Amino acid sequence: MPTILEYLKQHSTDMEETLVRLARAESPSRNKRLSDRCGRVLADLFNELVGGETEMIEQQIVGNQYRFTLGSGPGQILIIGHYDTVWDEGDIPLREENGLLYGPGVFDMKGGLAITLWALKALKHAGVPFNKKVVFLVTSDEEIGSLHSRTLIEEEAKKSELVLVPESSISNSGAVKTFRKGIGIFRLEVSGKAVHAGINPWEGVSAIDELVLQLQDLKGLDDREAGVSVNIGTISGGTRTNVVADYAEAVIDVRFRTRKQGEALEAAFRSRPAFTAGAAVHVKGGINRYPMEETEEVLALYSELKAIAAEHGYALGHGGSGGASDGNFTAALGIPTIDGLGPVGDGAHAVHEQVLLENLPYRAALIAQLLARHLD
Ligand SMILES: [Zn+2]
Repeated sequence: MPTILEYLKQHSTDMEETLVRLARAESPSRNKRLSDRCGRVLADLFNELVGGETEMIEQQIVGNQYRFTLGSGPGQILIIGHYDTVWDEGDIPLREENGLLYGPGVFDMKGGLAITLWALKALKHAGVPFNKKVVFLVTSDEEIGSLHSRTLIEEEAKKSELVLVPESSISNSGAVKTFRKGIGIFRLEVSGKAVHAGINPWEGVSAIDELVLQLQDLKGLDDREAGVSVNIGTISGGTRTNVVADYAEAVIDVRFRTRKQGEALEAAFRSRPAFTAGAAVHVKGGINRYPMEETEEVLALYSELKAIAAEHGYALGHGGSGGASDGNFTAALGIPTIDGLGPVGDGAHAVHEQVLLENLPYRAALIAQLLARHLD
């Protein structure tokens, strides 16, 4: 009996074909017709390769979503993925060159879907007993904020002891993601009092002057060492050079590594007394996603993966991302979540999006063996 890795290596060409079939079925998040077609390709692949329970969760606006289930038992392990991509139909061609497959969604994250299917197939082939339920949940709107899938993901996560996210790994290195930052978006709206800038400037209240003071103060929350960033993304305000501005606003993006930091940021943004008499500050927005924190449990999962990789003869790194994924939702519920389990590649959301083909069996084996350890 070949090992899981040997078995997957024997099927490396088939794995590539699985990925090509998924990538060829282009699936822009906002095109339901194309998305649904991709969903059907995925369901066909699951039935052909793995076999198990397939449930389609019908959607009105975005592509239909799928819950694939294997095994049974008291515990549950959840694998989450998305088949939508940031690309419109025909934006970038699918092509293979020097052992790399380029194309829409190959790295983010159809490569991850392909290796998950093969990891499950390899486990079945190896006769690993599924003493727990394994749910592979694939959604269709991650790239546009997961509005139509968040509840589904959270409900499934609550039943799970562990969440695996085969999203793109850290570019080129293949390192997995043990943390993802949380995100908040705030809009500061400042109002003042307009007057003629030449006749009676000191009788007005400049909303712009007040906004500058507010922004300087908020910039003080930026802490590189702690991983907290405050980015003033846009500002606007005023009407004419000879008028004291009665309105100004700014939109600010904040990123943070821990829930505690997020809560502190939220509190600082919520309470904004004006520095200038007569000015008023209104704050809109808030925390959008809480972070996937690098907890002890997550680092323990990474240690397991590292040991599997060492068995396969290579060193697996870990790191994090300032960008969020659906893993942020599951981690925020307190379920240990490890992300970036997808293939080695580069160029998520970029025209050079690519994956390293010869490495696919290694990545599938990584997921398969981690699952095997937790299915016991
Ligand atoms: Zn993704």
